[in-house]
Amino acid sequence: MISELATIVATSALVAIAILWFRLRRSRSEFSSEVNAWKQRLEIDLRHAREERNRLLDALGDAFLLVDATETIRFANQAARILFGHRELVGRPVREIFIDPRLADALLRCLASGEPVQSRILLSQQTSPRGSLETRGVNAWVIDAARLSDTPEGEPSTRVVIRDVTSEHQLEQVRKDFVANASHELRTPLAIINGYLENLLDDGMIDEPEMARRFLTVMRKHTDRISRIVEDMLVISRLESGEAGTLKIEPFRFRSCVNDILERLESVIRNQRAEVCTRRVDGEVILHGDRFYWTQVLFNLVENALKQNPHPGLRVEIGCEADAEQIRVWVSDNGVGIPSADLPHIFRRFYRVEKHHSQQEIKGTGLGLSIVKRAIEAHHGTITVTSTPGRETRFLITIPKVEGVVL
Ligand code: ATP
Ligand code: MG
Repeated sequence: MISELATIVATSALVAIAILWFRLRRSRSEFSSEVNAWKQRLEIDLRHAREERNRLLDALGDAFLLVDATETIRFANQAARILFGHRELVGRPVREIFIDPRLADALLRCLASGEPVQSRILLSQQTSPRGSLETRGVNAWVIDAARLSDTPEGEPSTRVVIRDVTSEHQLEQVRKDFVANASHELRTPLAIINGYLENLLDDGMIDEPEMARRFLTVMRKHTDRISRIVEDMLVISRLESGEAGTLKIEPFRFRSCVNDILERLESVIRNQRAEVCTRRVDGEVILHGDRFYWTQVLFNLVENALKQNPHPGLRVEIGCEADAEQIRVWVSDNGVGIPSADLPHIFRRFYRVEKHHSQQEIKGTGLGLSIVKRAIEAHHGTITVTSTPGRETRFLITIPKVEGVVL
């Protein structure tokens, strides 16, 4: 009886142990598959986070690099890859990538000192950060490097942003040139006026009425010139400001605008025995634009043709035509023309083909075509020029139809 009881207890104990063992095994395998699932999920999350970070950094317009303490590139965004000509960047030393040492310098200084470095670098006409040929002229870059603050101790990582600031640099240059040219243009007549004032006051010429009158006449010519330069510069700055209300858009007859300028230039045309004809400028062409600026545009273009060709035999044509999308307005002449070397610069402020003028004979200020270009651009149009000296010089204005015309 006792031995039977012992057998039952032993069997039950064995069964219980077996059940426990079985359960333990099951929960162990469940646990490990759960751990694996977690691991996989974490890996996926990590991959997504990395992809998201790369996507964000790729969306940056500027080139972005991460560089480790051994001066090796660890990450490069899309802009960086494009900048360096799609070369493999990750895993390569900085010095190998930046051909121009000035660019690498800024970054290496930051790596060495741990201090942020920002430097602006002008590269010669034909180099870019990757050292290849460039055709845009001088190009300017900003290298901005700083150590990341949250990198683990001993493994510093540095972020580098390379920004192309060529267009800002060019704009700055244009502004500087403008100020330099404007001062020069203003200084010349001012010096002449000063000279005559000295003659009048210090040298006693004021007591010689004939001479004094002659001096005063020349002085007036030069003060007129100063006023014109200032006025033209104000017009340019108004047009460049792009402020709403600069242009007073209204419909007007193109023909009436042409008649106005022909009337204003009538005596010059007659004296020079020039011929000015109009083509397809019928009474029905109506432009939507600022009549004041359109008159200035046409006036300057026709006046230029007359001014540059004072001898008889000049023929100037003013034309206008429109198709479904565009309106084209042109002024052409058969005069001396513009040398091809000057053509690319002709719309620049103060640019004249003939640069020198005597004290008696004052030529233009070289601002007329700048105003023309800005006025056309303010009307969302473009202006181009072609010239075959002695045969045809043609200024062609194109403006989109929506901006412009009712026929
Ligand atoms: P402004 O118009 O300010 O009185 P400007 O006539 O000299 O002075 P722009 O109208 O800007 O200045 O013209 C610039 C230069 O372009 C002129 O000095 C002239 O050398 C050249 N040019 C312009 N139009 C013609 C043309 N039709 N034929 C020959 N040269 C031209
Ligand atoms: Mg002019």
